[in-house]
Amino acid sequence: MKSTILDIEDGFTGEELFKGPVGLTYKDFLILPGFIDFNPSDVELESKITKNIILKKPFISSPMDTVTESSMAISLALQGGMGIVHYNNTIDEQVDHVRRVKRYENGFITDPIILSPEHTISDLDKIKEKHDFSGIPITEDGKFSSKLVGIVTNRDVDFEPNRNIKLGQVMTTELITGKQGISLKEANNILKNSKIGKLPIINSSGLLVALVSRSDLKKNKDFPDASKDQNKRLRVGAAVSTLPESKQRVEALYEAGVDVIVIDSAQGNSVYQLEMIRFIKANFKNLDVVGGNVVTKEQCKNLIEAGADGLRVGMGPGSICITQETMAVGRAQATAVYKTAQYARNFGIPIIADGGISNTGDISVALAIGAATVMMGSMFAGTNEAPGEYFYENGMRLKKYRGMASLEAMKAGGDKRYFSENQKIKVAQGVSGAVVDKGSVTNFVPYLAQGLRQSFQDMGYKNIPDLHKALYAGNLRFERRSESAQAQGSVHGLYSYSKPTMRVE
Ligand code: GDP
Ligand code: 5GP
Repeated sequence: MKSTILDIEDGFTGEELFKGPVGLTYKDFLILPGFIDFNPSDVELESKITKNIILKKPFISSPMDTVTESSMAISLALQGGMGIVHYNNTIDEQVDHVRRVKRYENGFITDPIILSPEHTISDLDKIKEKHDFSGIPITEDGKFSSKLVGIVTNRDVDFEPNRNIKLGQVMTTELITGKQGISLKEANNILKNSKIGKLPIINSSGLLVALVSRSDLKKNKDFPDASKDQNKRLRVGAAVSTLPESKQRVEALYEAGVDVIVIDSAQGNSVYQLEMIRFIKANFKNLDVVGGNVVTKEQCKNLIEAGADGLRVGMGPGSICITQETMAVGRAQATAVYKTAQYARNFGIPIIADGGISNTGDISVALAIGAATVMMGSMFAGTNEAPGEYFYENGMRLKKYRGMASLEAMKAGGDKRYFSENQKIKVAQGVSGAVVDKGSVTNFVPYLAQGLRQSFQDMGYKNIPDLHKALYAGNLRFERRSESAQAQGSVHGLYSYSKPTMRVE
């Protein structure tokens, strides 16, 4: 049909945008606005990580040793996302993180830092400096699940000039405690009525099993969006490699109640991976498997045929990643997401867009071109819940963030996803660096969700399934950005300005 002056068709469909020999990244195009007849609060962000598992928010944290252990997985699941625990550790360590998530009870600190009567006030000072809390239970031998003998707080040691004094001499021994099994409400009532700051929880033999903190009374919220299994336990995923030892790992993780196994491989289209998917699907009923990483339709086909319930997409877009430089194999991330999602939807398999997300706009784009969820490393790496301590550099509060194929992480065993384990010469496919402090996931995830809801409002869609329907019907329209359009789309022409940080108080 010939277009007329009144024709309102504008921009390009996804199919038109991704046609041709040039791969696109998230920043190479924009989504054209739609019609707004709803508020951002009307937007639902629910989506699928696998065929069978629905999350209230489409956010997943990367299985990296500077991103996801139990603390990240718990906070993210409470907010409606999911953490994938890394495997740069022993089977027991990884299983322990998964167990902590599955056992998590809101408000109870189930792995408190403990000291013994033989420790000194200066040991307490070190903890205070590192973690910013000072209410420390004292057990007989300084270990968890041992006999509780006292508690020290700031008030016991504030004015003591001699920091070498043993805690046994200054600790409070007349203790108010809670019995194992009490509810959070009961624990909070004891804290309120007795006006104490910390309530150690002990079992019938007097062994310490948890701690409740007064300051958490104020913080304790309900988490209506929490990702939970049918037994109301938080959901968690765990990564494994395609190496033979993983069979034992998967079995142990399954016993611990893991919800999803993510097979972690930089190039997922291998006989090893196909075998691992088939092994898991044949031996562990109701355990979902995410295969990957993939970037082409052919790779998707093989993993789907082997039984994958979800696919992780990305080869080279990660912020710490130098794969495309060193291997010259990979794909620009937006093209990879569009092509794989377009193929996998025919089988009801959701796509996780993994890597290269640096702000809320990138998340919107990934979802708009077919991803069901996004996986983020650097975005979550600077939060309180990421493993590792903060440090200062040039006045900035930072946390370490490293690629799993950086030389540093490979030395610690992180190269299992790159088929290079036993080789003497290691070629790094990632770097090691630092990211700025982003505060707690508890505040950061609602910030991401709010940004996303506003973007959905601009696009004119209220949820991810509607957005995908519009994409494939050709109603969602896109447009390439020239280099100068990209420059104009970011701050320009100012003498000075301060960029808003992503740290939310
Ligand atoms: P304190 O009075 O100096 O111990 O610190 P606050 O009570 O103000 O803050 C302690 C915060 O750290 C609370 O939100 C706790 O839930 C949290 N926290 C996490 N792990 C631990 C731990 O091992 N011990 C203590 N005391 N607090 C912890
Ligand atoms: P980010 O969110 O930081 O942009 O990317 C995180 C993703 O990068 C991870 O989920 C993982 O897929 C990928 N990744 C992690 N470590 C490395 C590495 O050392 N090299 C490469 N090529 N990719 C990595």
